[in-house]
Amino acid sequence: MFVYDERYVSKKEGHYYSCQWIEQGLVFFRYKIANCCICGHQAGGHTLLWDNYDGQDINWDRIFKIKDMYRKFHKKGKIHKNCIDCPFLKEDTWQVSPKQIKYLYLSHWLNCNSKCIYCYSAQHPELLGTGRHYRLLPQLKDMYEKGILMPDADISFGGGEPTLLDEFEDIMNFLLDNYFWGIRVHTSGILYSPAIARSIHEIRGYVVVSVDAGCAETYEKIKGVPYYNKVRDNIRKYALQTNFLGRFLVGAKFIIIPGINDTKEEIEKWLQANKDAGLYTTVIDIEENWYHEHIDNIPKRILNLINYAKKRSKQLHTNFELYERLQNLYYRKNQKQSLLKKIFAGR
Ligand code: SF4
Ligand code: SF4
Repeated sequence: MFVYDERYVSKKEGHYYSCQWIEQGLVFFRYKIANCCICGHQAGGHTLLWDNYDGQDINWDRIFKIKDMYRKFHKKGKIHKNCIDCPFLKEDTWQVSPKQIKYLYLSHWLNCNSKCIYCYSAQHPELLGTGRHYRLLPQLKDMYEKGILMPDADISFGGGEPTLLDEFEDIMNFLLDNYFWGIRVHTSGILYSPAIARSIHEIRGYVVVSVDAGCAETYEKIKGVPYYNKVRDNIRKYALQTNFLGRFLVGAKFIIIPGINDTKEEIEKWLQANKDAGLYTTVIDIEENWYHEHIDNIPKRILNLINYAKKRSKQLHTNFELYERLQNLYYRKNQKQSLLKKIFAGR
């Protein structure tokens, strides 16, 4: 499970290779608890803390003992096999509080009200319809009461569609009532959530709405549902919750899917619609399967599109954000393509 790899033997006194997730991260998936939600590299990530987890009470001493085991091996240059080549591994002294969680990712359900063609669940339909998920609020309360969840924790919802969870509003309100302020929600935007609106209004949440299109026709082609206008309305309503600076907290995401929405025209319409909705943030990425197939040589045409979005985003005074795959690409070493250098400039 841990393999010796000379590249990860630190020569610096007191340093070793680890990542923020091993040190202080926790992810609730449908069937397991993991250190991280990172999986953009070949080895796969999602390093395990508890397999077959189903909402049971958590023995925190056990969780932190397992995290310690990762540290012990990594200090000897023995790296977990799922971490090999992960761009998040770095050499540091890692002087952090080892029994607290700063990075929390909630992704313990799959159900969604969209049917994106690129979604993991669309490619594995056998996983859908089981409706399986467990209640998480009791565990979050436990973490809070025991001081395990740090007050400045980064808390993200993945999913599935979080607004479909029975306890979503309660979880959000619990976090907001207890003064957490780094809450990030990824949503289809089809359902309007008062708790998301509250988090934006109080400038303590950040919402990324999956749009992927500049018009209803393309949206339906990708999402398989007829909700483009509804999603656009909800985005506008979230943005209206807040003042000038707060508008950075609402982002509309565009995943480039080669062959479907990979044109300047579509990107331009998406950017304009974002501007019209009062958004100050645009978020872009590349479709995951296609990305993995082309990771070592992303065609110039696609990089040109990303660069175009960046340039236009600047002209429209919106914050330009790279999402998961593009972030991963950024952290990969030896970026030789000059276009990539342009895209990543200023980061
Ligand atoms: S896969 Fe990457 S992010 Fe996940 S635990 Fe390993 S090094 Fe950390
Ligand atoms: S919105 Fe997200 S979870 Fe829902 S189908 Fe699309 S990719 Fe999957």
